[in-house]
Amino acid sequence: MRAILQSASRIATRTSSSGSGSGSRVGFGGSFVAQRASAAAPTLTNANAATATVVGVGSNPTATVVGIRFKSSLPLPEDDDIIAPHPSSSSTTTTTSTSATQHDSEPHLDNNTSDTIKDYTSNTSKAGTPSPWAVFDAWGAGDAIADPLSKEEEAVLSPEMVRIPTSEHDRSADNLPDESRILECYDRLLKRKSSVHFGYPYNLMYNHEELYEFMKYSINNLGDPFVPSNYGVHSRQFECAVIDFFADLWKMEKDSYWGYVTTCGTEGNLHGILLARECHPDGILYSSRETHYSVFKAARYYRMDAKAIPTLPMGEIDYDALASEIAKNRDRPVIINVNIGTTVKGAVDNLDRILRILKTLGIPRERFHIHCDGALFAMMMPFVDWAPEVSFQKPIDSIAVSGHKMLGCPMPCGIALTRKEHVKKVEQKIDYLNSVDTTIMGSRNGQAALYLWYSLRKKGIAGIKRDVVHCMETAQYLRDKITEAGLTCRLNDLSSTVVLERPMDDKFIKRWQLACEEDIAHVVVMPNVTKVKIDKFVEELVECKEKHGRWTPARNDSPLVKLQSSSWGGSYVAPSVGNFKESF
Ligand SMILES: *Cc1c(COP(=O)(O)O)cnc(C)c1O
Repeated sequence: MRAILQSASRIATRTSSSGSGSGSRVGFGGSFVAQRASAAAPTLTNANAATATVVGVGSNPTATVVGIRFKSSLPLPEDDDIIAPHPSSSSTTTTTSTSATQHDSEPHLDNNTSDTIKDYTSNTSKAGTPSPWAVFDAWGAGDAIADPLSKEEEAVLSPEMVRIPTSEHDRSADNLPDESRILECYDRLLKRKSSVHFGYPYNLMYNHEELYEFMKYSINNLGDPFVPSNYGVHSRQFECAVIDFFADLWKMEKDSYWGYVTTCGTEGNLHGILLARECHPDGILYSSRETHYSVFKAARYYRMDAKAIPTLPMGEIDYDALASEIAKNRDRPVIINVNIGTTVKGAVDNLDRILRILKTLGIPRERFHIHCDGALFAMMMPFVDWAPEVSFQKPIDSIAVSGHKMLGCPMPCGIALTRKEHVKKVEQKIDYLNSVDTTIMGSRNGQAALYLWYSLRKKGIAGIKRDVVHCMETAQYLRDKITEAGLTCRLNDLSSTVVLERPMDDKFIKRWQLACEEDIAHVVVMPNVTKVKIDKFVEELVECKEKHGRWTPARNDSPLVKLQSSSWGGSYVAPSVGNFKESF
C-alpha cells in the first residue's frame, strides 16, 4: 500500500511539472479578451492586478489587453499577432507591448496569501491528496470469505503465464496454460479479493446477470445524451432516465437541467470545473486540502488559479480560512468545490455555511459558481434522515457522483448534472456525429448507462434507502467494536467511512485492502461489509495489535493526531496513545 501511495504521488508530481501558473488557456471557442477588459477593469484593486495592461478600455479593448487571453483554442484571425505561445512554454506571452510582458511575468493574484494557504497560482505542483482509491476492485459479496489461491493457481496468473506470444513458436510452448484455465484462476482470485475488501467505497453487493446478454453489443452513446447521433446502437433512453432520476433526487426543475453518464466521478469533476471556468474565466477555484486529487487536476488542466484551503481536524474545509481568502480576492469571481464526503475521512463540507460566507461577503450570485464533488455521498445524503439538504434548490451549479461506489455498478462510471444554461457555453455542433459535443469524452460506455438504469430501477427509492441505512448503522457497529478493542477510531456524522489508527502489520492492511494515509487507515462500510465480516476483521485487528503494537504519531500534526482531536466529538479515542488534544 505504501508503495502504491508513493508511486501515486510520484505520478502526481511528474504530471504536474507542465503546469505554469498564468498564461494562455486552452478552452472552447470564443474570445474572452473584450469580456475581461470590461468586466475586470473597474475592480482591479490589488498590487499585481494594478500592473496589468488594462488601459484605454472602451476604445479598443482587444488591442490593450494583450497577453491575458483566457480562451485561446480558437483564435480570432485578427488576434494572430498576440496569441500566447504553446502552453508548455515557460514564457507565457508574445506581445505587442512591453507592459503586457510585464503583466504576464507575474502571477495576477494577491501577493499576500497567508502561510497556511497553498497558493497554486504560480506553483507547478498543483496536486491534492493522492487518492488511495481504485487499486482493488472485484466481486464476491455476502458473508462468506473465499479461500486464498493455491501456489499453482497463483502461478497461472503470473506475467510469464499470461503473456501474449509474439510468434507461433512461442504460442505453442507447452508450458503456456490455455485461456480458459487462466480465466478460471482469475475468477477465483477476484472472488477471494472481493470477499475481504474493506478499504474502498465500492458496493460489491449486486446482481446484474440479466444484463450479461447485452455485453455482446457495442453500445456507444457518443455525443450528447439528449441529441441522438446517427449511430443507432446506443442506450440513450436509459441514460436519459438515469439523468432524470438524479435531477429529481437533487430537486431540479423540469427542462432546467443537463447531465450525462460519465466514465467515473473524476470525469464529473473535470466537467463541473470546466463549466465553472467557462462561466468565470478569471475565477479562482477554492477547495479544501483534503479534496480528491481530481479537482486540483482539473485546475491544472485548465490553467486555473486554485487555492487549497486548510481543513478542520474532522476533514471539513476551514470556513474562516476560506472566508478570508475570498475576501482578499474580491476582484475575481469565486469558484468553490464543495466536498460532499471527502475521500479519506468522509467529511461533508457545510454547504449552507459556505453560502452564508458568500452572502456575508456580499458576493452576488453571478460572481460565484459552486461545484459539489459528491462521488460517494451525494448518492447517500438524500436518504439520510435529518441530513442537511444538498440540492439545486440552493445556488449550486453542478454535482458529480460515481456510479460504481454507492450504487454498485461493476464498471467504473458516474453521473454529472448541471444547469442547462451552463452547458451551452461548451456546446459545439459536430456534423460527423449529427449530435453536439458537450461531454469530456467522445465515445461513451453505453453498457454503463444500462447498468445504472437497471440498479436504480430494480432497487427503487426504498431499496437505495435500505442500502444507505445499512451502511450508516453498520459503520457505527464497526466504530464501536474497534473502540471496544482499545484502538482509536472516528466516524464522521453523515458518513459510513470509519477512520482508525493504522494497523502496524502491512500484511493485515493488504489482506483487507485498507486505504491508508500516513498513520491512519479507513474502512468504508458498503452494503457488502456485514457484521459477520466485521467481527472477523476486528478479531484479526486485535491480534495484530497484540503482536505488533500500535502506531505512534511521528509528528504533532499527523493525520493520527488529528484523529484524536477533541473537535471530532464523542469519546472514541483510546487513551493509551497519549493526549494530543492540546495541539489543537
Ligand atoms: C472516489 C472519489 C472521486 C473520484 O471518483 P472516481 O470515480 O474514482 O473517478 C472524487 N471525489 C471523491 C470525494 C471521491 O471519493
